[in-house]
Amino acid sequence: MTTTPAVTRSHSIALEASNVSLTYANGVRALDGVSLSVKCGELVAVLGPNGSGKSSLLRTFAGLQSAQAGTVVVEGDSLETLENRERARRIALVPQRLDLVPGYSVEDFVLLGRYAHLTGWRLFGAHDKELSRRCLEQVDALQFIDRGMNEMSGGERQRVLLARALAQEARTILLDEPTSALDLKHQMMVYKLIHSLHRDGGGGRTVVVVTHDLNLPSQFADRIVLMKSGRIVKDGAPNEVLKKEILEDVYETALVSGVFEDTPAGGVRPWVLPWAGRGNP
Ligand code: ADP
Ligand code: MG
Repeated sequence: MTTTPAVTRSHSIALEASNVSLTYANGVRALDGVSLSVKCGELVAVLGPNGSGKSSLLRTFAGLQSAQAGTVVVEGDSLETLENRERARRIALVPQRLDLVPGYSVEDFVLLGRYAHLTGWRLFGAHDKELSRRCLEQVDALQFIDRGMNEMSGGERQRVLLARALAQEARTILLDEPTSALDLKHQMMVYKLIHSLHRDGGGGRTVVVVTHDLNLPSQFADRIVLMKSGRIVKDGAPNEVLKKEILEDVYETALVSGVFEDTPAGGVRPWVLPWAGRGNP
């Protein structure tokens, strides 16, 4: 099921970061000359160890964090020139978690995603409510619609965060570890959902997903970007990046690998697992 009308493709590049560097007030250099171009309709997974700059990169793309150097261009326009409403129509961010859990209901929370679409004095209408219901259904959370946001498990709330971003109907969706609190069924559900969004039936939307999953993005993503210490160390097709030697080096962990024969994205793709066997230091 799709929630978005077809994307008008006036640009072929959804996001373009050029030489972006970000140093926080505490002196930590989170991004160190990052250049990354994401095509419209692409599904890109960003991987890397804790602290490698993945969330900083997503927040910079979403305009929540300004970098000291470099540029970010969204569908041909500099991110800085976009007013909030226009930016929200182009980009939705699914944060990993909420730092403060709001005291209101799941339905009201998902409706917040519709703000960028309100015009004039109009309040949320029947269309917004119907769309919010459908987005909750897509993440298997419609049963929570009348609950308070503070009355759910971490994984249930994580699915509601995704529903809010879907309701925003942005052309690009950025997801920060969207499966970190999810059980296996819901991990697969999220990847199937984001895979369907980026295909034409889902409006051909652009998806960038930051994750510690290796084997789900391997099956679904077009491209894998591997980060370490604020830099991109490898960027390419899953078969080029998800190699045992590359990942053992970046994650400083012994691995065992093999191949999936037939993946939803098409063809043979690698799988990799941490290995506690012989030879592991
Ligand atoms: P990742 O998402 O890959 O785990 P982050 O982008 O969150 O990494 O963090 C990159 C680096 O910046 C880390 O060293 C982290 O400790 C630091 N950092 C993240 N957020 C802040 C912040 N708000 N203030 C200061 N340092 C931060
Ligand atoms: Mg992070």
